[in-house]
Parts: sequence; C-alpha cells; structure tokens
Amino acid sequence: MDARQLEARLRRSVRGEVRFDARSRALYSTDASNYRQVPIGVVVPRDVSDVLETLALCRQFGAPVLARGGGTSLAGQCCNVAVVIDMSKYMNRVLEIDAARRLARVEPGTILDDLRRAAEKQGLTFGPDPASHRQCTLGGMIGNDSCGVHSVMAAFEGEGARTADNIAALDVVTYDGARLTVGKTSEEELARIVAEGGRRGQIYRDLAALRDKYAEKIREKYPDIPRRVSGYNLPALLPENGFHVARALVGTENTCVTVLEATAQLIANPRARSLVVLGFPDVYAAADHVPAIMEHRPIGLEGMDDRLLRDMKAVGMQPPDSMLLPRGSGWLLVEFGGASKEDSDGKARLLVESLSGGAVDAKLYPDAKESEQVWRVRESALGATAHIPGKPLTWEGWEDSAVPPAKLGGYLRDLRRLLEAHGYEGVFYGHFGQGCVHTRIDFDLQTPPGIERFRAFLSDAADLVVSFGGSLSGEHGDGQARAELLPKMFGPELVEAFREFKRIWDPEGRMNPGKVVDAYSSTDNLRLGPAYRPPALETHFDYREGDAGFPRAVLRCVGVGKCRKLEGGAMCPSFMVTREEEHSTRGRARLLFEMLRGETLRGGWKSQEVRRALDLCLACKACKSECPVNVDMATYKAEFLSHYYRGRLRPRSAYAMGLVFRWARLAAAAPGLANVFTQTPGLSSAARALAGIAGARRLPRFARRTFRESFAGRQRPLNHGSRGRVLLWPDTFNNHFHPETALAAVEALEAAGFDVAVPRERLCCGRPLYDYGFLDLAVRMLGRILATLRDEIRRGTPVVVLEPSCAAVFRDELPALLPGDEDASRLSAQTFLLSELLETKASDFRFPAVPGKALVQGHCQQKAVLTMDAEESLLRRLGLDLEVLDAGCCGMAGSFGFEKDHYDISVKIGERALLPAVRRADADTLSSAGRPPRGRRHAHHCQRLLLPRADLAARRTGSPPPRRRAPPGASLFSPPVILSTAKDLGLFFEARSPSAPVRYVGR
Ligand SMILES: Cc1cc2nc3c(=O)[nH]c(=O)nc-3n(C[C@H](O)[C@H](O)[C@H](O)COP(=O)(O)OP(=O)(O)OC[C@H]3O[C@@H](n4cnc5c(N)ncnc54)[C@H](O)[C@@H]3O)c2cc1C
Repeated sequence: MDARQLEARLRRSVRGEVRFDARSRALYSTDASNYRQVPIGVVVPRDVSDVLETLALCRQFGAPVLARGGGTSLAGQCCNVAVVIDMSKYMNRVLEIDAARRLARVEPGTILDDLRRAAEKQGLTFGPDPASHRQCTLGGMIGNDSCGVHSVMAAFEGEGARTADNIAALDVVTYDGARLTVGKTSEEELARIVAEGGRRGQIYRDLAALRDKYAEKIREKYPDIPRRVSGYNLPALLPENGFHVARALVGTENTCVTVLEATAQLIANPRARSLVVLGFPDVYAAADHVPAIMEHRPIGLEGMDDRLLRDMKAVGMQPPDSMLLPRGSGWLLVEFGGASKEDSDGKARLLVESLSGGAVDAKLYPDAKESEQVWRVRESALGATAHIPGKPLTWEGWEDSAVPPAKLGGYLRDLRRLLEAHGYEGVFYGHFGQGCVHTRIDFDLQTPPGIERFRAFLSDAADLVVSFGGSLSGEHGDGQARAELLPKMFGPELVEAFREFKRIWDPEGRMNPGKVVDAYSSTDNLRLGPAYRPPALETHFDYREGDAGFPRAVLRCVGVGKCRKLEGGAMCPSFMVTREEEHSTRGRARLLFEMLRGETLRGGWKSQEVRRALDLCLACKACKSECPVNVDMATYKAEFLSHYYRGRLRPRSAYAMGLVFRWARLAAAAPGLANVFTQTPGLSSAARALAGIAGARRLPRFARRTFRESFAGRQRPLNHGSRGRVLLWPDTFNNHFHPETALAAVEALEAAGFDVAVPRERLCCGRPLYDYGFLDLAVRMLGRILATLRDEIRRGTPVVVLEPSCAAVFRDELPALLPGDEDASRLSAQTFLLSELLETKASDFRFPAVPGKALVQGHCQQKAVLTMDAEESLLRRLGLDLEVLDAGCCGMAGSFGFEKDHYDISVKIGERALLPAVRRADADTLSSAGRPPRGRRHAHHCQRLLLPRADLAARRTGSPPPRRRAPPGASLFSPPVILSTAKDLGLFFEARSPSAPVRYVGR
C-alpha cells in the first residue's frame, strides 16, 4: 500500500485534517491499554462526507481503518496499523433531544457528559456512565459497549445496564461504503429489506441466516448476567430481542462498521441522590451482601477493599478521614435516587434498618460535600493503584471481569488465591452491584518470563471466571487482551459465529483487523515488551521513580485522558481550546515515550516533534494535581527543553523573559529610562518586537523604587515581632514592578506580630527559567539562595513567599533538583505563602474587617503544588464573601501569554471560561454590594490585608484605633473586586489586548 499516495489523495478530497507525519502517527499509536501499533496515518474528519470520502479512498488503496473517539480503550481495540479516523474534534454535537420519546440523536464524537448535560435539562439522562465520562465519546462507548456506576439505574429504569441496551438506532457505514440505518426489525420489515436486495438486503439476509443457524447455541452459551461485554452481541438478533441490528453492532469495537450517528435511549434522572456506605469485615463479605442490597433498587452499588486506602496513603493521597468511612475493611457504596432528598434519604435509611448482621457499620451522608469526598475515594482507585512508590507498575489485563452478582464473593476469594498463586498483587474495587470487578495487576510486561507468566495468568483467570458463569470483560471489551480467550467462554461454534458475523459486514477484513475476531494474541504488540529498552538518561530532576528515573516517569500516563476533558478544573488549557491530542498532557506523555522508544520519533532529546508538542504546554502544573496519576508535564517540559537547547540558541523571548530578573536589575538603576523604552508607543513596539513579545500586549511598568529600596528606607515598626522572625521573599515581579504588594505584606505581617526581614542579597528563585529549560542556571541560582540563606534556613526562619509560582519552586523544583541536600529540604519545608503563615502561626490575630463580595481566582501552580485552603480561609476571616472560581486558566502562565507566537492561544484560553466568568459576575457583585458600578479592581491577596496606616499607627502606640467612616480597606477595594492569588490574572489585565474588553482600574 502506497501511504504517500493515499495521503495525497486524502488531502485533496477531505475537508478535515490529514496527518501522516511521524508525530501524528506516534500520538495515535496507543490507547489506554498495554498495546501499541503505529497507524498508517490520521484523518480528522469535519463531517460525515469526510468519513465517507476517507473510507472510499482507503478502500481504493486497501488500507485498514480504525475509528477513534477519546482513545481511552483498555484492551487494545483502539490502536492498529490502519488509517485512524478521529471523530472527537469536529463530529461531536448533540443533534436533538426528544424528551417526549426519551431519545437523543448524537454525532459519534459527542462526549458523554455533553449528552448528559443536554438531557438533564429535560430531567433525563443516559444510564451507562464510564468513569471516563468527561472525555469518552458515544462512538467509543458504542464501540466498547460501555457501562458505569449508574448502569445499575439503567438496568432498573430502562432496558439494561450496558450501552447496547440503551441504543435505539444507529446510522452506520461499512468498509465497502454501504450506508444503513439500523435498529429493531420486525419480521415483516426484515422480509421486506431482504426482498429489496442490494448490499443492505444481503446483509440482513445473512444476519437472519446466522441467527437461525446459531440461535440455540446463543441461548445456551451466553451467560445471563448484567455485565456480559465479551463477544459480539449476537443475542440482540434473536426473535425474542426483536432482531435489533443496532444493538448487535454495539460492542463490535469497530471491527464491523463505522458509526456516523446514534440514537440513544434516555432514562429519568433522579432529582435527588443519597449515599450510604456499609462497612464489612472484608471485601469478600461485602460482596456476599450484594444480592440483598440490590433488592432495595439502588441507582449505584460500588465496592472497594481496604488495600485501596493503603495504596492511597502510599502515594501521598489524602485518605478519607477515619470518621468519614464507617468501620470495616471492605465497603459498599450504595446510592439511592428519589424525587426529593427526603425520598432518597428515606430509601437509604430503610436499607440500613433492614440490615440484619453482616455489616459491621453503616453511615448515611446527608451532606453533599461528604458524599463527594467518599465518591472521590472510589474514583481515585486508578491513580492510587497505578504507581506505588517502591513497587512495580500495575497494568490492565484482567481489569473488568464480571460474574453473576450472587456469586461475586466466591469469585473474589478465588481470584485472590489465583493472584497469589501467580505471585501477583491487585486491589479489588468496582461495580459490585452488577458483579464487575476492577483490579490493576503488577504484571511484568517487559521480560520474556514475565510476559509468559502474564499469559498463563490470563488463561487461568479466564477458566476461573467461566467456571462462575461470568464474562472475561464486564465493561472494557475484548480488543486483543481477551480475544484469544473467547473460545473458553463461548466455545468454538460461537467463535465461528463471530467470524461469520464480521464477514457479513466486513468481507475484506479491513475494519480494525486483528481485534476480537482472528485476533492477535494477548502478548503481541505490547507497548513495552522485551524490545523496550529506554536509554539511560542523565537528567536534571530527580524523578523519584526508583532506579528507572525519567523513563518510568514518562510511563505514568495511564491513558485515561482526563486531560481531554472540556469542563471544570484547569487541566489541560491548551487541549480545551484546540481539542488536539498533541496538546493534551496525555499526547505529550505519549510523545515523550515514543522519543525514548526511538522508532517512530528519532532524535532523542533533539526531537523537533516533541518540542512542537510541548510548545503549547503552559507549564501550569494543573496536570500534577488534576491528572489521576499526577503526570507532571511542566517538569518534563523543563527537562526536555534543557537538553533540546543544549548547544543551540533559544528563541528571543527566552532571553527576554526567562532572564527577566537580569533586565529588571539593570532597569532598577534608571527605572524612568527603562519605562521610556517599554511604555512609549514607538519604542515599546520595537522593544516588544526585539523581545519576541506580542504587539497587542503591554509591558509592565518598572516601579520608581524597588521594594527592597523602600523596605531599607522605611521606618522600623515599634512592634518587636512577638511571633518571631520571618524572611519575606522579594520576588522579581513584586520587587521591581509592584512593590506596593510586598510593602502591603510587610505591613500585614508586622501588624500580625512578625519581625520581618528580607534577604541581604538580591536573589531570584528563577521561576521563568523553567519555562525555557535554563536548568543549569536554575540550579546555580538555587545553590546561591541556599548559600546566602543558610544560617536563616538552619535557624528555621520561615520564608514567606507572595508569589505562588515562586513558592512552588521552593516546594517542588528545589528538592527535585537538589535531592539529598538537607538545606534544600529544609527550605522547601520552611516556605510559606503569606496566607499559610498567617493561618498556621497567627490564627488568633484579628484582621480588620473588609466586607464585600469577591471573586477569587487561584493561581494554577498554587492549586497544583500548594493548596487554596489557607488562602480561602484567610480571606473569609477578613469577612469577604468569596466566590472561588473553577473557571480554568487566564492564559498568561508567566511569560507564555506575552510571547508573540502564543498570543492568540493565550487569549483563547483566557476567554474560554475565566474572563466570561469575571464579566458575568459584574451585575451580581454590584447588586449584592448595592453600589453603582465603579469599575473593577484586581488585588493581590496580601494587599487585601493592608491595614489603613492610621490603624497601624494606633497599634504601634497602643492608642485606640481612630474612628472611621468606611470599613478598613473599603477605600482601596471598592467592589467588585477580582482577587487572584498571584500576579498572572493581574498581568492579564495589565497586558490585555484591546480586544479583551475587561475593565481594569489598577491596583
Ligand atoms: C481509567 C479508566 C477507567 C475506565 N472506566 C470505564 C468504566 O467505568 N466503564 C467502561 O465501560 N469503560 C471504562 N473505561 C474504558 C473506556 O473509557 C470506555 O470504554 C469508553 O467508553 C471508551 O470511549 P472512547 O471515546 O475513549 O472510545 P475509543 O477508545 O476511542 O474507542 C473505543 C472503541 O470504539 C471504536 N469506535 C470509536 N468511534 C467509533 C465509531 N464512530 N464507529 C465505530 N466504532 C467506533 C474504536 O475503534 C474502539 O474500538 C475506562 C478506561 C480507563 C482508562
């Protein structure tokens, strides 16, 4: 097959994007499974006609095809040597919600949560909800026959637990170009279609013949359990099931047809939900009680064992406080739905009252926040169990087997014994109400004996689950992980029926070949495998991943693709606006892996492809906290760039902004003159062009006096610092551009009783250096900081840092760059944000009241590396009515938003959620404050604490505070106020483009 010719022809015919380059092929070479196959190329179709055109050309060239949604499959069904058709970027609309008939029409790339949001407006929902609901697509769910926590509800309210049971009709196309709308088919209709002939008539005729031939075998061999996902869904063709061709195609993993549109069946969405957790002596006893609990018709019934809590602790996750979960070592989370909270609470209470023995404890969670915390424990399972320090990595492979719920306890006991016999470990959790068990297992997928053992285990586990009348897969599908085991579950005749079924749709065998039918073995195409030998690399950071260092860090990504979500949180800003895999954390991690593998991507640290993919990483570190396995792309980016640029010149902006501390020091000699260059229209344009800064951005103005100068020249307070000495960190930004912020912090700290000092030398933490990979210099600067501050550090003096990204350097980068340096560890532990210091060491201090309403935008690195807890608590102590925004990113990310090449994307990121939220808040904030609009203000958090001078003077002399007409701070901060914990949002307003119509009055 001539891939170049095919690419050229596709480019001419397809309106969407056609990518056959190494980077795109590397990006799509794996899903979330253990498997990897580099595709021929990637097409991102704009619409159905692009899909049809792609298929027609692939047919001409004999190229296999593979449709892809979120790419979160776990059994290898979403990677192949094929032309990948990525439906997620453009073909993702909810086309119609028909509330009366409870139907929804969607395009295949629609994200499940988008459908659910649209349906919820009509009081409806789509029942099966995989844990990947924020990023998985309906096309992928149909491909895999997905299920989820609320499959239990779907089974009670609708026709069944799986996606198949909740699909009414599909618009599909075959490899040979036949387009069909399929659904339930009456016998008359079937006869009519067959009589009409053509490709459609032929398909229906052959399907009917297949049904007749295998009907008895199907009835005999298919287990009657809620979670039978393995094998093709042939029971849907039986007369008692209405010859439902659409449902027969659900779960075929793109081995038969490509879905162009789906009509989904919706169910009622309960208005209220209540959670009750039952504690048992162990997970097995918990499982034994499932049938009795299901009698109560919950909407969700999940189980988990105590090993999960152990692993959570081991990876440093905050396990639930012991008061949160009821006593026990195995738990069932039972959720009830109702028309009102009273109704759902009532059902939960009834369950608890009816429990006769077995459970050691039970707890109902009337508070939504508490129940959210409990759900978070269950949802953290993957993150908690994938990478445990000091232990081997864990993998999918036997991650979703299912048995009749009544036999779950017995199955779990035997499965534990089997794991032990093979020398494996695994935590049990999952959808116990429907007998489905999740566990990631510490398979060795790199050495030949390890791989042999993996295969032997799969064979034994398949025998075990079949002996319980269960299914190899209870929700993730067969792909190639389970395909070779299908004969154990279905017998040779039905496996032959699968082959015939596929042949009816795809006689040439070009749809996702080698998966489900006539499949590769479970040990072919392994992502690691014995051939994976990443080079030994010298790195700047200590990756704390055992001996394997950076290569193991790169393996952190488990592929769940949470970085592809579009709502909530900050991860991943560049994906949210581009919807491009390469601009997601997962995509970048995949490319780094491919770089280490060195086949598709060559050039190692000098790889242009990797540099390009990392270019739009804002280094916000959101992935470090929001990714379930804490992939830290900002660190990997800094590491990569440091090697990439070794011996090469960096772009101009790197020298202009990465070394800003040097320019700022020069400017401090004559700030007026520096401002002539940066603020006078013509000169400023030239300065920006020289520095690689976008013309639409304004440069910040240098202060007339730096903070250090003002601090040195000020009158010392009478307050002698009864709470002890602190060092205030004069970061470059506040020192040179906004000294008033740091001066405000001094005032606040002194008023609270601290003796404030600043370092005697000019120091900078070097934060901007990381964005450009200047790591050698960063290490030297950290060394200088340690040398200068050594005495203070060893004396235990707290170092108060105002700028969260600078605090993050001390907390995060410093110990990873200087591992084993005790002073580095001490400084890391002694670093406080202003709010942290005041909350922990001055919790009894009474701040002046600053009533008002404020929006708070947390700094991304603060949320990732530190927390917002102290910040919020402190601002509330001031009497502020806070609205803490969960509206993503301002797009500035240090210097990112200033750079010429990043300007457009930066504005798009800011405008995606945060700035509209800020604008929207205007009317609200004003009406609640009851004041006329006076413009907005942006304030740094420590300015909030600034006491009126008179107040401070009164404290010094011990005289009563003066009478005031307005509450303290009111004159400074007329509402509405936008508070951010750091400079970035402020910078956005200062550096805003004329097209971003947010009014900003200034500090
Ligand atoms: C951490 C984690 C947790 C998970 N939890 C669950 C869970 O709770 N329940 C569950 O069921 N699954 C779960 N999964 C598996 C996976 O997320 C789901 O199966 C999901 O529905 C797949 O959707 P996707 O859009 O990512 O599909 P993809 O992986 O992109 O595709 C899935 C299959 O569908 C095919 N396909 C995609 N689009 C089309 C189309 N238009 N036409 C025909 N075929 C198509 C693909 O070729 C592939 O074979 C989990 C995965 C991970 C990594």
